[in-house]
Amino acid sequence: MAEKCLPGTRLGTSLSVSYEGQAFGQSSKVRNPIIIPMLRSDQRLVSAKSDEDIVLKHVSEELRRTHTLTDEQKQTLAKVFEKRLPQALALVDARNVTSYRFKPSGRTIWIVKGRKGEYQVVPESMFCTCDDYYFRVMDNKKQLCYHLVAQQIAEALGTFDANVLSDSHYSEVTSKWSARTSSGRS
Ligand SMILES: [Zn+2]
Repeated sequence: MAEKCLPGTRLGTSLSVSYEGQAFGQSSKVRNPIIIPMLRSDQRLVSAKSDEDIVLKHVSEELRRTHTLTDEQKQTLAKVFEKRLPQALALVDARNVTSYRFKPSGRTIWIVKGRKGEYQVVPESMFCTCDDYYFRVMDNKKQLCYHLVAQQIAEALGTFDANVLSDSHYSEVTSKWSARTSSGRS
């Protein structure tokens, strides 16, 4: 019974009341802009990027042009990432970041070999398949794992192993990492 969800209607009413002071007779229009943000509660995952994301993106942009990581940039990154920075840089130096680009689709996947295993990193959404990423985001600690940091720096510097494969290999290659992450499947 409680599932019939009256609160939605209630909310709409109270919100439109408070809005009416500003815009008479527009209550029907008012509802949409209010409902949209509520539906996008999953956006919290995206906004969890925080300062770390901004700093990393900013430095990466510079690295794309200069291809050199200066001490100053290291300090900037270290302030935000602390001990994750040397961890990430160690992976970059060891060439533990690998890209697979598929032709002709142009799809690219990134694999980072960390201390405990290999993980798929999705730079577009700043996502990583490692447990560390999962728990940090779920705990709302708003921190990026060092695999992501390594991938961003390696891509910007151009210090990664680049592989080009035909699209026919796509599922074969990606299944290698999805098998790791979807525990429970044989
Ligand atoms: Zn990770």
